[in-house]
Amino acid sequence: MARPARARLDAQALHHNLQQVRSHAPTARVLAVVKANGYGHGLAWVANTLKEADGFAVASTEEGMQLRLAGVIKPIMLLEGFFSSDELPALQLRQLAPVLHNEQQLHLLESHPAALPHAVWVKLDTGMHRIGFAPEQLTDVLARLRQLKGIHDIRAMTHFANADDTANAATRTQIELFRSKVNSLGLETSLANSAGIVAWPESHADWVRPGIMLYGGSPLLGKTAEELNLKPVMTLESALIAVHHRRQGEAIGYGGDFVCPEDMPVGVVAIGYGDGYPRHAPAGTPVLVNGSRVPLVGRVSMDMITVDLRAQPKARVGDPVVLWGEGLPVDEVAAKAGTISYEILCHVAERIPRVVMK
Ligand SMILES: *Cc1c(COP(=O)(O)O)cnc(C)c1O
Repeated sequence: MARPARARLDAQALHHNLQQVRSHAPTARVLAVVKANGYGHGLAWVANTLKEADGFAVASTEEGMQLRLAGVIKPIMLLEGFFSSDELPALQLRQLAPVLHNEQQLHLLESHPAALPHAVWVKLDTGMHRIGFAPEQLTDVLARLRQLKGIHDIRAMTHFANADDTANAATRTQIELFRSKVNSLGLETSLANSAGIVAWPESHADWVRPGIMLYGGSPLLGKTAEELNLKPVMTLESALIAVHHRRQGEAIGYGGDFVCPEDMPVGVVAIGYGDGYPRHAPAGTPVLVNGSRVPLVGRVSMDMITVDLRAQPKARVGDPVVLWGEGLPVDEVAAKAGTISYEILCHVAERIPRVVMK
């Protein structure tokens, strides 16, 4: 027998969520964002499952190479581009299309005319103020790239800072600035992340870049995944490995943070921060035991958590537990733990087996 902690992966949910991308942005091509090990779901599994995507986006050359090794032949965008010239031969050979966002990258390309990537994405900083060329630099950047004959496709992209907040007009300002600089140039363009896809149709352009919505997390503030018709792809499961009848006044776990207010059953679940369960999840964070909610109590340990079983007096060792996924939105657990679904998902540890449902 194995430790019961595992991440169940639902391929149908992944297909369904991509279908939601298509229904929001029917004319755009879809670059499925699979950085950080496919948001924790497994880079190769996500890429090989999403055969219907038009391409993929990752953070680095290494992740792009992993996709090629996994058999992906579709276009691949490198969201931070390359970091040094020694990556250039791989970009050329494996047809990885880097984002260009700074002068150093441009200079490296000009210095290595024999190792140019076939396609590049010029990133404009339209207001996120993280990476990207200033909009007024675009003309000069394009002129320099056009001198480099090995580059066949030059495209333009940008990224939103506030698209999750539908009341924030900054996104419209970003879209308009991007359009004013790029629209007359005849380049292929990409602006929208998941929030842009769902909430800002004017940002769809030629290519959209969904990440979190593919995995079933909500990309919008104040909207649940269910309201957006997104389905959880990962269900993190485990089981009760102990049930104890504690006395009033007994303290549970490290630091004795939780003191039983009355005689009560307390369950122990084989999951902890060593598995990626958030250590800062407070007492009251919901956990499903036998499909019903019970509250977390006490501190999260590396390999275990404790739960208040007063609402489940018949629960026994071996009963199934869900930490998030089907029946318990990852967004809700993330909010309790003071973080976002993105972080929770990409922190699921390597030691958790990913089990694909048929
Ligand atoms: C991660 C990322 C995305 C995907 O964002 P989601 O909010 O997960 O949809 C899109 N574009 C860029 C540049 C990114 O870094």
